[in-house]
Amino acid sequence: MNPSVELCSHPELDERIVIVRAGDEVDAVFVRTERFNVLIDTLGTPELCRTALVLLEDRAGDRPLIVVNSHMDWDHFWGNAAVAGRAPIIAHAAALDRLRDPATQQVLKNKVREDSRFGDVELIAPDITFSGSMVLNGGNLTLELIHTPGHTPDHVAIWIPELRICLAVDAVEYPVPEVWSRSAEDLRLIRSSLERIRDLDARLVIPAHGQTSSPSTVMANLAYFDALAARVEGLSETQLADGQLSRSNGFRLDDFVAIPAGTPSETVTFYRSCHETNLGATVQAHFEKCKRA
Ligand SMILES: [Zn+2]
Repeated sequence: MNPSVELCSHPELDERIVIVRAGDEVDAVFVRTERFNVLIDTLGTPELCRTALVLLEDRAGDRPLIVVNSHMDWDHFWGNAAVAGRAPIIAHAAALDRLRDPATQQVLKNKVREDSRFGDVELIAPDITFSGSMVLNGGNLTLELIHTPGHTPDHVAIWIPELRICLAVDAVEYPVPEVWSRSAEDLRLIRSSLERIRDLDARLVIPAHGQTSSPSTVMANLAYFDALAARVEGLSETQLADGQLSRSNGFRLDDFVAIPAGTPSETVTFYRSCHETNLGATVQAHFEKCKRA
């Protein structure tokens, strides 16, 4: 069954920005500017996205709609069929590579098998792609689409300078973000994207998961990666080769971040697996550093 969709806000959030929450699954964001409306992400199914558009009708008025896909992870763009042909969909050029990747089709096949709510999902490609960055000039508000790879190669975050708000999507995440792979290069990318967001000096940083808005999450994410690197630094080669490292004392997720009591067990399992990948990438980065030295 689809989660329910509701419109939410954060304390101190400008009323032109609306959080579109699909239960605990994901948050999309709606931004109203003078010249057009922007929907950042289309949720996990077309039905969820259609429900969101109905809820947003009053706020949307008759301004044209522009849709941004932050990245090609299922929970962020599988609702595209609800807007295709009605609004241009913008994404980073690397999103096209991800759509062509057979793994993307496989995720859909697996999800349909698990849950019938994914039955009408179509993988719809963006209409417009860009490399580097892109700016949407809404008149009173500007949306700067910033390539922030590391979580995925195609990830973009949105910066609204007039409000000093960063819609960080999955580049920032509470309790921890997830690096794309166990490679040192992806670890370097996720760190530099976090640093880029930190350097915006935003008043609010709004990720798509975890329902937080404090910029302190960016610092906490960076501190987590620093702590991983420091902990791995002191290990012997045998310890580094241990495939179970993320389960040993001192290296578990809970040894780095506090998981709030009452967090659903499947959420904890999800973040443990993120942590395992993050730790794997940190070990890889350490190996490469040692090789160079
Ligand atoms: Zn996500």
